Amino acid sequence: MRPHHIERVLFPEDVIARRVEELAAEIARATPDPDLCVIGILRGSFVFLADLIRCSHRHGLRPRLDFMLLHSYGGGTVSSGEIRVLRDIDLDVRGRDTLIVDDILDTGRTLAFAAARARERGAARVRTCVLLDKPARRAVPITADFVAFPCPDEFVVGYGLDYDSLYRDLPWIAAVTFTDDTRDSTAIAAARSPSEVPP
Ligand code: 5GP
Ligand code: MG
Repeated sequence: MRPHHIERVLFPEDVIARRVEELAAEIARATPDPDLCVIGILRGSFVFLADLIRCSHRHGLRPRLDFMLLHSYGGGTVSSGEIRVLRDIDLDVRGRDTLIVDDILDTGRTLAFAAARARERGAARVRTCVLLDKPARRAVPITADFVAFPCPDEFVVGYGLDYDSLYRDLPWIAAVTFTDDTRDSTAIAAARSPSEVPP
Protein backbone atom coordinates (compact mmCIF):
# COMPACT_ATOMS: atom_id res chain seq x y z
CA MET A 1 0.00 0.00 0.00
CA ARG A 2 1.41 3.37 -1.02
CA PRO A 3 1.22 6.40 1.30
CA HIS A 4 -1.99 8.18 0.52
CA HIS A 5 -4.80 10.22 1.93
CA ILE A 6 -8.47 10.55 1.23
CA GLU A 7 -9.86 14.05 1.42
CA ARG A 8 -11.71 14.78 -1.79
CA VAL A 9 -15.26 13.52 -1.71
CA LEU A 10 -16.51 13.09 -5.27
CA PHE A 11 -19.97 11.73 -4.48
CA PRO A 12 -21.50 12.50 -1.08
CA GLU A 13 -23.90 10.13 0.61
CA ASP A 14 -27.12 12.05 -0.16
CA VAL A 15 -26.17 12.46 -3.83
CA ILE A 16 -25.55 8.71 -4.13
CA ALA A 17 -28.84 7.87 -2.42
CA ARG A 18 -30.87 10.12 -4.74
CA ARG A 19 -29.16 8.81 -7.86
CA VAL A 20 -29.52 5.14 -6.88
CA GLU A 21 -33.25 5.69 -6.35
CA GLU A 22 -33.55 7.29 -9.82
CA LEU A 23 -31.48 4.53 -11.39
CA ALA A 24 -33.73 1.85 -9.87
CA ALA A 25 -36.71 3.64 -11.40
CA GLU A 26 -34.95 3.73 -14.80
CA ILE A 27 -34.22 0.01 -14.61
CA ALA A 28 -37.78 -0.79 -13.55
CA ARG A 29 -39.23 1.28 -16.43
CA ALA A 30 -37.03 -0.64 -18.87
CA THR A 31 -37.91 -4.02 -17.32
CA PRO A 32 -41.60 -4.82 -17.76
CA ASP A 33 -41.24 -8.37 -16.39
CA PRO A 34 -40.33 -8.10 -12.69
CA ASP A 35 -38.78 -11.60 -12.80
CA LEU A 36 -35.20 -10.45 -13.31
CA CYS A 37 -31.92 -12.19 -12.51
CA VAL A 38 -29.42 -9.81 -10.96
CA ILE A 39 -25.76 -10.85 -10.83
CA GLY A 40 -23.53 -8.70 -8.62
CA ILE A 41 -19.78 -8.67 -9.28
CA LEU A 42 -17.98 -9.03 -5.97
CA ARG A 43 -16.60 -7.54 -4.08
CA GLY A 44 -16.88 -3.89 -5.05
CA SER A 45 -20.57 -3.82 -5.97
CA PHE A 46 -22.05 -5.17 -2.75
CA VAL A 47 -23.01 -1.85 -1.14
CA PHE A 48 -24.39 -0.40 -4.38
CA LEU A 49 -26.27 -3.62 -5.08
CA ALA A 50 -27.78 -3.74 -1.60
CA ASP A 51 -29.15 -0.20 -2.03
CA LEU A 52 -30.17 -0.74 -5.65
CA ILE A 53 -32.28 -3.85 -5.04
CA ARG A 54 -34.11 -2.25 -2.12
CA CYS A 55 -34.89 0.79 -4.28
CA SER A 56 -35.89 -1.49 -7.15
CA HIS A 57 -38.32 -3.28 -4.83
CA ARG A 58 -40.14 0.02 -4.39
CA HIS A 59 -40.37 0.22 -8.18
CA GLY A 60 -41.94 -3.22 -8.52
CA LEU A 61 -38.98 -5.47 -9.41
CA ARG A 62 -38.66 -8.86 -7.72
CA PRO A 63 -35.13 -9.94 -8.63
CA ARG A 64 -33.42 -13.27 -8.06
CA LEU A 65 -29.89 -12.55 -6.91
CA ASP A 66 -26.54 -14.17 -7.40
CA PHE A 67 -22.90 -13.12 -7.33
CA MET A 68 -19.70 -13.66 -9.25
CA LEU A 69 -16.36 -13.05 -7.60
CA LEU A 70 -13.94 -11.80 -10.22
CA HIS A 71 -10.39 -10.55 -9.77
CA SER A 72 -8.67 -8.22 -12.18
CA TYR A 73 -6.69 -5.93 -9.93
CA GLY A 74 -4.44 -7.91 -7.61
CA GLY A 75 -3.77 -5.60 -4.68
CA GLY A 76 -2.85 -2.52 -6.70
CA THR A 77 -4.63 0.29 -8.47
CA VAL A 78 -4.02 -0.76 -12.08
CA SER A 79 -5.96 -3.55 -13.77
CA SER A 80 -3.80 -6.59 -14.50
CA GLY A 81 -5.77 -7.26 -17.68
CA GLU A 82 -6.43 -10.85 -16.74
CA ILE A 83 -9.74 -11.89 -15.16
CA ARG A 84 -9.79 -14.70 -12.63
CA VAL A 85 -13.08 -16.34 -11.64
CA LEU A 86 -13.15 -17.03 -7.90
CA ARG A 87 -16.89 -17.70 -7.84
CA ASP A 88 -19.03 -18.32 -10.89
CA ILE A 89 -22.77 -17.79 -11.53
CA ASP A 90 -24.76 -20.47 -9.76
CA LEU A 91 -28.27 -19.22 -10.44
CA ASP A 92 -30.11 -20.70 -13.41
CA VAL A 93 -30.29 -17.73 -15.81
CA ARG A 94 -31.45 -19.80 -18.81
CA GLY A 95 -34.10 -17.92 -20.76
CA ARG A 96 -34.14 -15.13 -18.19
CA ASP A 97 -33.69 -11.41 -18.36
CA THR A 98 -30.36 -10.81 -16.59
CA LEU A 99 -28.76 -7.68 -15.20
CA ILE A 100 -25.05 -7.65 -14.34
CA VAL A 101 -24.19 -5.10 -11.65
CA ASP A 102 -20.64 -3.89 -11.09
CA ASP A 103 -19.05 -1.03 -9.20
CA ILE A 104 -16.84 0.54 -11.88
CA LEU A 105 -16.60 0.24 -15.63
CA ASP A 106 -12.96 1.03 -16.36
CA THR A 107 -11.11 -0.87 -19.11
CA GLY A 108 -14.34 -2.82 -19.61
CA ARG A 109 -12.74 -6.25 -19.29
CA THR A 110 -14.58 -7.29 -16.13
CA LEU A 111 -18.04 -6.28 -17.31
CA ALA A 112 -17.52 -7.76 -20.79
CA PHE A 113 -16.32 -11.00 -19.21
CA ALA A 114 -19.31 -11.22 -16.84
CA ALA A 115 -21.82 -10.41 -19.59
CA ALA A 116 -20.29 -13.07 -21.85
CA ARG A 117 -20.52 -15.58 -19.00
CA ALA A 118 -24.24 -14.87 -18.49
CA ARG A 119 -24.83 -15.29 -22.25
CA GLU A 120 -22.90 -18.59 -22.22
CA ARG A 121 -25.21 -19.71 -19.43
CA GLY A 122 -28.18 -19.08 -21.72
CA ALA A 123 -29.59 -15.80 -20.38
CA ALA A 124 -32.28 -14.48 -22.74
CA ARG A 125 -31.19 -10.87 -22.47
CA VAL A 126 -28.12 -9.52 -20.69
CA ARG A 127 -27.91 -5.89 -19.63
CA THR A 128 -25.33 -4.16 -17.47
CA CYS A 129 -25.47 -1.60 -14.69
CA VAL A 130 -22.55 0.19 -13.03
CA LEU A 131 -22.20 2.65 -10.23
CA LEU A 132 -19.32 4.54 -11.89
CA ASP A 133 -18.27 4.80 -15.52
CA LYS A 134 -14.64 5.79 -16.19
CA PRO A 135 -14.57 6.10 -20.00
CA ALA A 136 -10.94 7.32 -20.14
CA ARG A 137 -9.23 3.92 -20.05
CA ARG A 138 -11.61 1.72 -22.00
CA ALA A 139 -9.79 -1.18 -23.68
CA VAL A 140 -12.85 -3.24 -24.65
CA PRO A 141 -15.70 -1.59 -26.60
CA ILE A 142 -18.51 -1.83 -24.07
CA THR A 143 -21.10 0.64 -22.78
CA ALA A 144 -23.20 -0.06 -19.71
CA ASP A 145 -26.97 0.05 -20.13
CA PHE A 146 -27.39 1.82 -16.79
CA VAL A 147 -24.85 4.15 -15.16
CA ALA A 148 -25.26 5.96 -11.86
CA PHE A 149 -22.41 8.47 -12.38
CA PRO A 150 -19.67 9.23 -14.89
CA CYS A 151 -16.38 9.31 -13.01
CA PRO A 152 -13.05 11.07 -13.64
CA ASP A 153 -10.00 8.91 -14.28
CA GLU A 154 -8.89 8.75 -10.66
CA PHE A 155 -8.61 5.92 -8.17
CA VAL A 156 -11.69 6.08 -5.98
CA VAL A 157 -12.78 4.35 -2.77
CA GLY A 158 -15.81 4.10 -0.52
CA TYR A 159 -19.40 2.84 -0.88
CA GLY A 160 -18.05 -0.70 -1.38
CA LEU A 161 -14.86 0.25 -3.28
CA ASP A 162 -11.54 -0.55 -1.66
CA TYR A 163 -7.88 0.22 -1.69
CA ASP A 164 -6.06 -2.83 -0.39
CA SER A 165 -9.29 -4.04 1.28
CA LEU A 166 -9.75 -0.76 3.16
CA TYR A 167 -12.42 1.96 2.87
CA ARG A 168 -15.32 -0.19 1.63
CA ASP A 169 -17.25 1.03 4.67
CA LEU A 170 -17.14 4.74 3.78
CA PRO A 171 -20.69 5.93 3.08
CA TRP A 172 -19.45 8.28 0.33
CA ILE A 173 -17.09 7.96 -2.66
CA ALA A 174 -13.76 9.77 -2.49
CA ALA A 175 -10.64 10.09 -4.63
CA VAL A 176 -7.36 8.68 -3.30
CA THR A 177 -4.44 11.10 -3.34
CA PHE A 178 -1.13 9.24 -3.40
CA THR A 179 1.67 11.02 -1.56
CA ASP A 180 5.28 10.43 -0.83
CA ASP A 181 5.10 12.10 2.53
CA THR A 182 4.77 10.34 5.84
CA ARG A 183 1.27 11.52 6.71
CA ASP A 184 -0.87 8.96 8.41
CA SER A 185 -2.32 6.89 5.60
CA THR A 186 -5.50 6.59 7.60
CA ALA A 187 -6.13 10.34 7.43
CA ILE A 188 -9.68 9.40 6.53
CA ALA A 189 -10.27 8.62 10.19
CA ALA A 190 -10.36 12.37 10.78
CA ALA A 191 -12.97 12.88 8.09
CA ARG A 192 -16.04 11.03 9.25
CA SER A 193 -18.52 12.90 7.10
CA PRO A 194 -18.31 14.98 3.91
CA SER A 195 -18.99 18.20 5.86
CA GLU A 196 -15.86 17.57 7.90
CA VAL A 197 -13.69 17.04 4.86
CA PRO A 198 -11.40 19.97 4.12
CA PRO A 199 -12.17 21.79 0.82
P1 5GP B 1 -12.07 -3.13 -15.64
O1 5GP B 1 -12.11 -4.60 -15.85
O2 5GP B 1 -13.25 -2.39 -16.28
O3 5GP B 1 -10.77 -2.49 -15.99
O4 5GP B 1 -12.09 -2.89 -14.10
C1 5GP B 1 -13.22 -2.90 -13.41
C2 5GP B 1 -12.88 -3.27 -11.98
O5 5GP B 1 -11.69 -2.62 -11.55
C3 5GP B 1 -13.98 -2.75 -11.11
O6 5GP B 1 -14.91 -3.78 -10.89
C4 5GP B 1 -13.26 -2.36 -9.86
O7 5GP B 1 -13.26 -3.45 -8.99
C5 5GP B 1 -11.85 -2.09 -10.26
N1 5GP B 1 -11.60 -0.64 -10.34
C6 5GP B 1 -11.47 0.14 -11.42
N2 5GP B 1 -11.25 1.42 -11.10
C7 5GP B 1 -11.24 1.46 -9.75
C8 5GP B 1 -11.09 2.53 -8.79
O8 5GP B 1 -10.93 3.72 -9.10
N3 5GP B 1 -11.16 2.17 -7.49
C9 5GP B 1 -11.35 0.89 -7.07
N4 5GP B 1 -11.40 0.67 -5.78
N5 5GP B 1 -11.50 -0.14 -7.95
C10 5GP B 1 -11.45 0.15 -9.27
MG1 MG C 1 -14.73 -5.03 -9.11
